[in-house]
Amino acid sequence: MTKLMAAPYETSLPYDKRRIHAAAIYCSDGRIGEHFDDFLQNGLGLPRYDRVALPGGPGCLAGHAQASLEEKGVVDELQFLVEVHQLKRIVLIGHEGCAFYSTRLELKDRRMELVQKADLVRAASVVHRVTQLSAIEAYFARHMQDRIVFEQVEV
Ligand SMILES: [Zn+2]
Repeated sequence: MTKLMAAPYETSLPYDKRRIHAAAIYCSDGRIGEHFDDFLQNGLGLPRYDRVALPGGPGCLAGHAQASLEEKGVVDELQFLVEVHQLKRIVLIGHEGCAFYSTRLELKDRRMELVQKADLVRAASVVHRVTQLSAIEAYFARHMQDRIVFEQVEV
C-alpha cells in the first residue's frame, strides 16, 4: 500500500482553553453540523461547548431497543464529561427528517415528529437521572425552506 502523506495543516482559529461547562447531544448528520454550531454558539451563547454527536442524537437516550448499545455508550460519555469537564448544562437537539427515525425506527411525517419530541422529554429525564444535573433543555430543528429554525421543546 502506498501512503501519500499530506503536509501538516495549521488552522487559523485561535485556541481558548477555558471550558464552558456545557454539552450538546445532537445527530451527527453533517448537513446540519454548522447549523447546530451556529445555534449553540450564537443562539444560546455557548462557545466551545462539548459535543456528543451520533446518529439520532438524543433519540438514543429514549429507551428504543434498536439503540440500546448507543444508549449505554452515551450515558458513559456523559458521566465522564460531567466528572472531568464539570458540566453544568446539557442541551438536547432533535432534527426534522432524521434518518435514525425514518430508517431505524421506520417512522415518518407527523408521527415521526411526535415520537422525536416525546423522545426529547424521555432523554432529558434519563440525562437528569444519570448526571443529577437540572439544567437540561431541548430543541427541535425544523426545516423552513432552505433555513433551519430551532424551536424549544418543554422537558
Ligand atoms: Zn439525524
